[in-house]
Amino acid sequence: MSKLKTILITGANRGIGFQLVKESISKNFNVIGTFRNKNRSQKLFEINSNNVNFFSMDVVNEKSIVKVSKSINSPIDYLICNAGINNGFGTLFDDDHSHEKMLEVLNVNVLGCLLTVKHLAKNLNTNAKVVLMSSIMGIQKHNGSNAIIYRASKAAVNNIMVSLSEEFKSKKVIVASFHPGWVRTDMGGPNATLSTRESATSLIRSFENLTFKSNGKFFNYDGVLMNF
Ligand code: NAP
Repeated sequence: MSKLKTILITGANRGIGFQLVKESISKNFNVIGTFRNKNRSQKLFEINSNNVNFFSMDVVNEKSIVKVSKSINSPIDYLICNAGINNGFGTLFDDDHSHEKMLEVLNVNVLGCLLTVKHLAKNLNTNAKVVLMSSIMGIQKHNGSNAIIYRASKAAVNNIMVSLSEEFKSKKVIVASFHPGWVRTDMGGPNATLSTRESATSLIRSFENLTFKSNGKFFNYDGVLMNF
């Protein structure tokens, strides 16, 4: 059996998830990356490494998650719930905040994390670490009224992170959430302060540094504890 630590990253085909895959390979992890659309995942399939496997998985399609759970044979040491969407940065009164779009954000960002953890829980190794990708936009104390449902979804991510940390305590699994920084991705936009590499390098280091004291807590990408 492989002695390499196994990391599973959702939303691995682009943005922060893609860079987390690359950083994990350079750290000599056994990497499992999930994508939901092969046509948008070209870069992922160009990665040439013996320690990488890719699976199709939509975080709001339970059957697809169960299929991944049954397909992988190495216990997961790091489960990184990174997949997420933002319906736009407008206000409640803009078109990007239609009922349908707001439901989609809550569905993917909140239920997507819950369903991923629910169906992959049986694959977790002893002392595994579960990371939910949150955002500083989800903290309760904030200025601004834009992206109202995205903010709410990330506040909920931090809330479910606490519940999950309690749920898994007896199994010695650590659950924490992270703000990846403001990162130049499709979501973060070109003016963001961090490259995907700067974010992902720090994130991986911070994931490795998680201990039982980190359980139920929210961290910046550089490992600094944050209030939520
Ligand atoms: P991104 O570039 O927009 O990438 C999002 C990723 O999530 C893509 O791989 C996308 O896959 C995947 N995804 C979306 N819906 C999915 C679903 N239903 N099932 C499976 N995968 C799905 O975003 P990013 O900037 O890398 O963000 C990654 C995470 O960090 C998100 O949770 C985001 O909220 C959080 N975050 C980002 C920033 C930032 O500045 N970028 C700041 C704070 C927090 P497709 O290609 O198929 O759409």
